[in-house]
Amino acid sequence: MKKWKCNSRGHITEQELKPDVCLKCKEEHGDLWLSNFTEVLPPPAPEYPPQHEIDLVIAEINSLSHKEMATLFRFAAAGHPYFDNRLPYRKVFDERFSAFGGMTAAISKEIGLTPPE
Ligand SMILES: [Zn+2]
Repeated sequence: MKKWKCNSRGHITEQELKPDVCLKCKEEHGDLWLSNFTEVLPPPAPEYPPQHEIDLVIAEINSLSHKEMATLFRFAAAGHPYFDNRLPYRKVFDERFSAFGGMTAAISKEIGLTPPE
């Protein structure tokens, strides 16, 4: 569904095809209901990090200990880049964490339930 903004008063209409008239202008102002429309485009996707930055973060993940990984896995704030599915880190993290055995009972007990300072 596309969004269109009427150039007369900025009303937004959602429909697939460019509208001919703005029904909201018509409703509010009766006579003035012809309008031109501009398509409202969705905001651009966040910029993907450059490759050298991706490499740095991946190297960082690959240097984490099992305990550090378990701590991040349990306590990382929502939206942490390691766990953002749009970024390539999640897969790297999961593979390394799995290689350590993941959240084992022993490591889970070791890191506890209280976030580190
Ligand atoms: Zn309008």
